[in-house]
Amino acid sequence: MSLDDAAEDLASSLGVDKAEVKEDLEKLVSYSVPMDEAKQSLRRKYGDEGSTGGGADDAPTTDIEEITTDDDRVTVTARVLTVGKRSIRYDGDDQTIFEGELADGTGRISYTAWTDFSLTPGDTVTVGNAGVREWDGNPELNLGQSTTVTLEEEPLSVPYDVGGQRNLIDLEPGDRGRTVEVRVLEVEQKTIDGRDGETEILDGVFGDETSRLPFTDWDPHDAIEAGTSVRLEDVYVDEFRGVPSVNVTAFTTVEAIPEVAVSDEATAMSVQEAVDAGGVYDVELTGNIIEVRDGSGLIQRCPECGRVVQNDQCRSHGKVDPEDDLRVKAILDDGTDSVTVILGRELTEEVYGGTLTDALEAARDEMDRGVVADDIAETLAGREYRVRGSLSVDEYGANLDATDFEESGGDPASRAERFLAEVGR
Ligand SMILES: [Zn+2]
Repeated sequence: MSLDDAAEDLASSLGVDKAEVKEDLEKLVSYSVPMDEAKQSLRRKYGDEGSTGGGADDAPTTDIEEITTDDDRVTVTARVLTVGKRSIRYDGDDQTIFEGELADGTGRISYTAWTDFSLTPGDTVTVGNAGVREWDGNPELNLGQSTTVTLEEEPLSVPYDVGGQRNLIDLEPGDRGRTVEVRVLEVEQKTIDGRDGETEILDGVFGDETSRLPFTDWDPHDAIEAGTSVRLEDVYVDEFRGVPSVNVTAFTTVEAIPEVAVSDEATAMSVQEAVDAGGVYDVELTGNIIEVRDGSGLIQRCPECGRVVQNDQCRSHGKVDPEDDLRVKAILDDGTDSVTVILGRELTEEVYGGTLTDALEAARDEMDRGVVADDIAETLAGREYRVRGSLSVDEYGANLDATDFEESGGDPASRAERFLAEVGR
């Protein structure tokens, strides 16, 4: 139903002005409120209290597997797998919503509950008259004002884990209501311009035996300190340039626990696997450097923002007095795909075999800043390297910010063997 049709419908059933209803509806929808909820919210606003949204009692009882995005409303009996609590804002008000997954013997489905039905992981419930909406091509359940939730005494057996406990390696963008046990590897306090003005947050990195992931704590918890280990109940996962990121909120329970072991090793992958994953925070790739790109060697940065500048002009700060730096942008190819590897000053100095001062001296002697990049290209091109770092993917391609970069001894055959051994363990 189009917004215009919905406004027409509402206006006639409520006996109010269509233009007014349409304006309200547009506003709610622009805040990502699903159409069903928006309509119910307006029914409440215009005094049709207790409305069920129409056709409430005849929503068909369905197996989860059978639900499609063509369904309008359904009734399901299911086990609550996870419950995550989150605060969103629309129309100037903060609202607490609940998100997670439900499952029966045939499948599982994500849900969003707009009111508190006291859903608890492990409970078996019959959800009556839930709205169905599409998210990312898949159906999702929408539990709103006209939905009923009845607790069943007989627990439903489902072929899925109940509860949100996961290892870091298994977290995916979109996950809600997850529980993790991690060590805080890095943390720093930041001030951001949030929806309520200046807000303090924590940014850092968590680790466990399986992986490392960046996190943001939107409601700084004292227990989240570098070196401490914590159990975090009810975190959600989003992504930045394809890399999953853990979000800690005011609803997250944070509890100190005995030290969590953290793996020193990054996950070894082929370039194609890592790029297909959409990004990996801590990955090890092995391949040949086939090209050193422009923008390598001696570069200049804006002293204010660190952006690379040319002819003393920063995109944000205009004419600046730039600072010299060293960097490498090189294309690494392992036969499955290629990625741009970025080395910061320290790793570039190692590859160059000299310091920034040495590089500036060489450039002065030759009266050409390009000699440094030429020198680096001569060292790298055609050789095989093992590189560890964070791989992100955006519309311009895949980049790997390197933390380790070393020549790998092996010939291609032994590299393949090593790789197979690693993925096969
Ligand atoms: Zn700048």
